Amino acid sequence: MTAIALDANDRKQMLARFVRYVQVDTQSDENSTASPSTEKQKNLARVLAEELKQLGCRDAVMDDWGYVYATVPANLPKGHAAEGKVPAIGLIAHVDTYHGTLGAGVKPQVIEAYQGGDIVLPGDARQVLRAADNPNLARCKGHTLITSDGTTLLGADDKAGVAEIMTAVAWLAKHPEFHHGPVRVAFTTDEEVGRGTEHFDVASFGAQYAYTLDGSDLAEIEDETFCADSALVVVEGHDVHPGYAKGKLVNAVRVAGAIVERLPREFLPESTDQRQPYLHPYDVRGDVTRVEMKFLVRAFTEEELHQREESLRAIVREVEGLFPGVRVTVQVKESYRNMAYKIAQDPKVLEYAFEAVRRLGLEPVRRAIRGGTDGARLSFMGLLTPNIWAGGQSFHSVQEWVSLEWMAKAAEVTLHLLAVWVEHSEGQGRTQKATGTAR
Ligand SMILES: [Zn+2]
Repeated sequence: MTAIALDANDRKQMLARFVRYVQVDTQSDENSTASPSTEKQKNLARVLAEELKQLGCRDAVMDDWGYVYATVPANLPKGHAAEGKVPAIGLIAHVDTYHGTLGAGVKPQVIEAYQGGDIVLPGDARQVLRAADNPNLARCKGHTLITSDGTTLLGADDKAGVAEIMTAVAWLAKHPEFHHGPVRVAFTTDEEVGRGTEHFDVASFGAQYAYTLDGSDLAEIEDETFCADSALVVVEGHDVHPGYAKGKLVNAVRVAGAIVERLPREFLPESTDQRQPYLHPYDVRGDVTRVEMKFLVRAFTEEELHQREESLRAIVREVEGLFPGVRVTVQVKESYRNMAYKIAQDPKVLEYAFEAVRRLGLEPVRRAIRGGTDGARLSFMGLLTPNIWAGGQSFHSVQEWVSLEWMAKAAEVTLHLLAVWVEHSEGQGRTQKATGTAR
């Protein structure tokens, strides 16, 4: 039996990969309608496709949308109890970085054998990673940490996940004696702008189950996301010369104000956490004749989601009654749903992840994400995809940091997962062969 562990050299190479990837600017753009939203994301995608080829993935390819696909074929010997029975497993990470924080010119700082205490970032002395604000720093004493210089984000979200998957693929290439089923790799674009699966072709990807490496803390597995809708409230008033407006003017601005004023305080993002739902007015624009108001609606159950939407409608009806002559419409649009609904239909995808974490000697921590992932959409597109930690901390900020040891554990857990899938496939019926063809 091959011991599933990265050695010192594997770790060194993973660090080198990560440092190389974060220096490629791959910010996505929420205002762009192109795919990918920024061409520069392909600069990293191209590198990854090339590196995958060098690691022996002959079909590695970058498509027109900047997605990278590759296969590590199954290597179970003839006559192996699981031969032809192991489902193809997908490993997925995203190449783009968050649009709201500077992502160009990243200068990664490597701190070896972190001794504890605060870390002052060298490019901006006001940026200090305080041990008091980052309880995970205490868990990482003695680790190799990577930060930015304090003037940009680091991009561990999600280049840590990318480097971990690349390291797992490199490890598989180096250990042909380790037996596994078909592995499909995908690196996606535009996750940060909510369009990471827009052009993802689940059928041609050919994986039966998948995992994103896009979480945060060691040993965390996430199988729940929000149920998410957006609501557009349009207020149509009636404009009249204000000098002669008595009894005639219907001011859409005041109507909008009355709606915002009545939103229940206990269901706002700034007053909720854990499993509480919220209704968030995040964009209001217009004038006396017409105001458009945009809301995010979020909850872990569809029932609570619809309760928030009903409360918005009730407020609108009440306010309409106070402003005769106004017309207010509410349009709700579905964004994504909690992937737990889908994963519950075939929970082994989650159970095997827990088992893989235990094989690292860790207790798995099951978490719910107050947000969405590519995996949430993929799960509803037919590919169940829980999320595994990637190690990054303080995502989306110039104080982002990551521990190389937590990254190594993430790479190792994917290898354990492959072993778990093989073992549980022994004695099962034959699975449909993965297509294994990248587009
Ligand atoms: Zn991410």
